Amino acid sequence: MKPSKPLAIIILGVQGSGKGTQAKMLIEKFGLEYISSGDLLRARKKKKDFTGAKIGRVIDRGLRVPTPVIFKMWMDKLEEFKNKKRFKGLAVEGSPRTVPEAEMLELALDWYEWKNKKVIYIDISLKEAVWRLTRRRMCRKCGRIMPFVGEFRKMKKCDKCGGELFTRKDDNEKAIRNRLGWFKKEVMPVINYYKKRGKLIRINGEQLIEAVFKDVLKAVK
Ligand SMILES: [Zn+2]
Repeated sequence: MKPSKPLAIIILGVQGSGKGTQAKMLIEKFGLEYISSGDLLRARKKKKDFTGAKIGRVIDRGLRVPTPVIFKMWMDKLEEFKNKKRFKGLAVEGSPRTVPEAEMLELALDWYEWKNKKVIYIDISLKEAVWRLTRRRMCRKCGRIMPFVGEFRKMKKCDKCGGELFTRKDDNEKAIRNRLGWFKKEVMPVINYYKKRGKLIRINGEQLIEAVFKDVLKAVK
């Protein structure tokens, strides 16, 4: 199953939906490039200039970096992908976070002439999200997050480095409900934006990882 045109896959879902796991599986299967605003911000923060320093302050205060700053990084990354010799496509996860970002992403993908677009929504109920997020764990050594799904549930140590697993302080129910509230307010309109345009592919995220992936593959075909 080899797509002829470069794929542009946008994966949406609430925290705990397993969208990160699905993105990774897709990237491996199709040899895609990956865009994560979180990774880009962490890298940009290290640059010693005004924006680098300010990103650090903004994130520390729990605020969000505004869209123009994010998009500057995005466009640079997309340009880099476009100029790659063997570019097979890209997967976007954790973005767009708002409708204006979704609109800008559409324009950006159009600019680079990537027409083989798929928007996948890994749907789980908010109740299920709270259940999973209060139970997920993090590796003390390498920071890897172990979602509360599939075989991760049984792991006693980090599968990457053998580090100890613990529950993060900000994974208590109140903090999680706050984060989910933000999802409902900001990201649900994004999901509706794609739905209205007939572009949204909804997948039941409350299945085993493999079953979800099977549905994802069907959607990408
Ligand atoms: Zn680890």
